[in-house]
Amino acid sequence: MKLVADNISVGLEKKTILSDVGLEVAAGEFVGLIGPNGSGKSTLLKSIYRTMKPYAGWISLDGDDVYKLSAKENAQRMAVVRQESSIEFDFTVMEIVLMGRAPHKRLFQQDTEADHDICEEALVRVGMETYASRSFFSLSGGEKQRVLIARALVQQAKFLVLDEPTNHLDVRYQLQVMDLVRALGITVLAALHDLNIAAMYCDRLYVTKKGQMVANGTPEQILNPQLIRDVFGVETEVTTHPITGKKHVYFFSESCRIKQSPQEVSKAQ
Ligand code: ADP
Ligand code: MG
Repeated sequence: MKLVADNISVGLEKKTILSDVGLEVAAGEFVGLIGPNGSGKSTLLKSIYRTMKPYAGWISLDGDDVYKLSAKENAQRMAVVRQESSIEFDFTVMEIVLMGRAPHKRLFQQDTEADHDICEEALVRVGMETYASRSFFSLSGGEKQRVLIARALVQQAKFLVLDEPTNHLDVRYQLQVMDLVRALGITVLAALHDLNIAAMYCDRLYVTKKGQMVANGTPEQILNPQLIRDVFGVETEVTTHPITGKKHVYFFSESCRIKQSPQEVSKAQ
């Protein structure tokens, strides 16, 4: 499934949030969207998953304008894990995950045993199988996030949109969720706030700043101290991770800098 967003501009009333932004995700690619808070990542994803319609430009999935697909056709192609969950009523975990099967059913069609099996398998994949009958509202932020990812998985769409999927997760589940998303082998577009997670998992990155797309390329091309300074306003040292071979970003504040050189520090010890 190939996504193309071509010269899109998105705004609310008179305020432009994104101006003339382009992005492509090839079939099977894992693409990350990075940029500071408020730079327009969620807005771009919302325009792709049809919650904020661009006033200019167009967005296509395998050549079809996403705004011309029916809701059901769209849901069969695209699954979404939003930044804020919009669950308003207290369902059980299993009920929430079963909702992901809706695009594969006729109106009012009962859930089948196969649906339950698919949902149980998804709960196993996110490590939540023992929570099936728990109330969704009783879960921690990280547990809720894993359930919402399971709901997206059972949709069995070929394109997955994730808005900061690892936000509420502790580090073990951050890696587990990213591993399982990558193992799906489907087309993924994810807004990510952690540059090291982005470096580890993404084939390519797009960078937003103040509503514009300012760079795109492989993590090797994108993650360098100049770009990170320009876009995020922080100082970094970027090296290669000794185990993964991927870029690794060390952040520092001038006030925390070692006053002696590393050689002087090791001599003193
Ligand atoms: P990010 O996801 O990169 O943090 P967002 O896309 O959420 O950024 O926001 C981009 C900009 O658009 C911000 O300045 C934000 O305040 C503004 N914005 C987003 N949604 C709305 C909204 N519903 N009403 C007004 N401003 C909004
Ligand atoms: Mg956001």
